[in-house]
Parts: sequence; C-alpha cells; structure tokens
Amino acid sequence: MHNILCEGRGLVKVHRSKRGGRPLEAVSQVDLRLYQGETLALVGESGCGKSTLARLLLGLLPPTEGQVLFDGQDLAALSPKALRTLRRQFQPVFQDAAGSLQPRQRVGALVAEPLRIHKLCPRGELPQRAARLLERVGLSPELLERYPHQLSGGQRQRVVLARALALGPRLLVCDEPVSALDVSVQAQMLNLLAQLQREQGLTYLFISHDLGVVRHSASRVAVMFLGRLCEIGPREALFRRPRHPYTRFLLDAIPKPDPRRRDALGQLSGEVPDPGNPPSGCRFRTRCPYAQALCAQAVPPLADLGDGQQAACHFPLQG
Ligand code: SF4
Repeated sequence: MHNILCEGRGLVKVHRSKRGGRPLEAVSQVDLRLYQGETLALVGESGCGKSTLARLLLGLLPPTEGQVLFDGQDLAALSPKALRTLRRQFQPVFQDAAGSLQPRQRVGALVAEPLRIHKLCPRGELPQRAARLLERVGLSPELLERYPHQLSGGQRQRVVLARALALGPRLLVCDEPVSALDVSVQAQMLNLLAQLQREQGLTYLFISHDLGVVRHSASRVAVMFLGRLCEIGPREALFRRPRHPYTRFLLDAIPKPDPRRRDALGQLSGEVPDPGNPPSGCRFRTRCPYAQALCAQAVPPLADLGDGQQAACHFPLQG
C-alpha cells in the first residue's frame, strides 16, 4: 500500500442546535486513511455525515474529538498561516458547479482567482496560466472571455476543477463530482479525473450517495450510515462480496438492466432512525433484516475480514 496522505483518527463531530435542541452526532468515532494516489469513495444516503466528515478532513470544520493528520502533520497543531499554506494541497470540488462560480466573473478571472489570492503568479502572467489550466481540463482557451451561464453544465464543472488545480493540490475532495451531469458527460468527467490522477499522482476522495457512480472509478469504497463507517474495502471485493447488510442494500439499489433481479434486501423496511436519537448498539439495526439481540446491546467494531475488507457488523454476510 502507498504512503498515508491524510488520516482521520477517532473523529467525532457533534452539531449543537442554536435553539437548544438535542445535539446531533453527525460523525461518530471514524478512523479513515487516505493513501497517496488512490481514489477513495465515501458513500451513503444524504444526511449520513459523509459531507461533514469530508469537511473535517479538509480542515474546514474542527472536530469535536479526534485528529486530522495531513502528511503526518496534525492540523490542530498548526498556526493559522501554516494551515492556510498546507490547505493549498487539499482542495474541495463541490457538486454545485453553477453555485460555486461567481456569475459576473469571466472564466479567465475565475480560474486565475486562486493564483491571484495566494499571490502565486505575477499579474501579467495570469491570463496565460488560466489558459493552460483550461487546457489541462480539456477546455479551449477561447472560453476565457465567457461567463459561467454561457457554458454547459459539463464545462462549468471543468472550470471548477481548473480552479481547484490552480494551487497544485495533492488531494481533491469531490462532493458528488458528477451527479448533476448527464450520463454521457459523467463518463467524460470521470475519465478526465482518472487521466489527471495518472499524470499528476493526485489522490481523490469522492463523496457520493450512489455506489453506481463510483463503481468504475474508486480504488476503495467506504460506506457510511448515520455518522459511522459500516464497511470499507477494495472496490472489487466490496462489490463482489459486501459484508455489511447496508452495503448490500446500496448495491441492490443500483438500477439493473433487469428490474426483476432484486433480492431480500432490495427494499428496506423497518423504522428510519432519528439522527438526533440514534438506536443503541448498531445504528442500522432498526432497518436490518438480520438484527439480533446483541445488535441492540453492543456497538459493532469495524473488524478485519481479510482482503483489506473491514465491516462493522456482529454478523457479517457470508455469501
Ligand atoms: Fe444488522 Fe446486527 Fe450487523 Fe447491525 S450488527 S448490520 S443490526 S446484523
């Protein structure tokens, strides 16, 4: 395995409501490592804590408990200046390309902005640097003079990517990188990300609610449910033989060519748990068809099951 680039240790994030409601533990005791050059997909339903976890790893939110290390350096121990410099190395690429681009700025100014803010390029050279960044993401420098609304959704997403690449990052955290795009444009975007990774040794953390989207692009997959990691492992192993019932459910939810091919977990029944008051023991137990008494009594630890696969289940699936 490669070197560890970024690591979360014992991460907990509790959101406290301003109106004095019940505190919500959005991330609960998560240990996660990102290895240099890999693509780790973090998957789960909306509200499961995956975006909060990503923000903790990016240093955009302080954890309530736990540590984030980037290249072995504890983010909490850095001065604000050192943190700002280090954070150039890990950049977010958020899902809403249209929303993250200032509508009144031209593409050239948008792409050059991070270089200008961080004073990484003489003013006179900004247009050439912006043109080169556009070329790197497969866009023509002719688009420099356009405004975001004059671009297609796929082009806008590439402009967002060019901005993230401007600072020479080592880690890109892509929140739903392609879900707003048409299927054919999704494939082009994923191919571009793979090409950039090969050329520059980039590390990616993809965040998605859809296991189908990450099926061909992730090297490892981590599945989250209600703030906890349920399962993590190499993509092939996890798709071939999911060990946690929730991973199995997500796999079954990927649309299949033949809709009659569904199994017992195709539809989850049971009570949807309240994130503000999660079930005792295993947080998935109110929806799990395999739950037993132990599942209510003890939190299942993330246990090694061989082949790099780990699952947090007292009774991991065998088949
Ligand atoms: Fe289901 Fe129990 Fe495993 Fe949780 S620990 S996923 S309730 S079998």
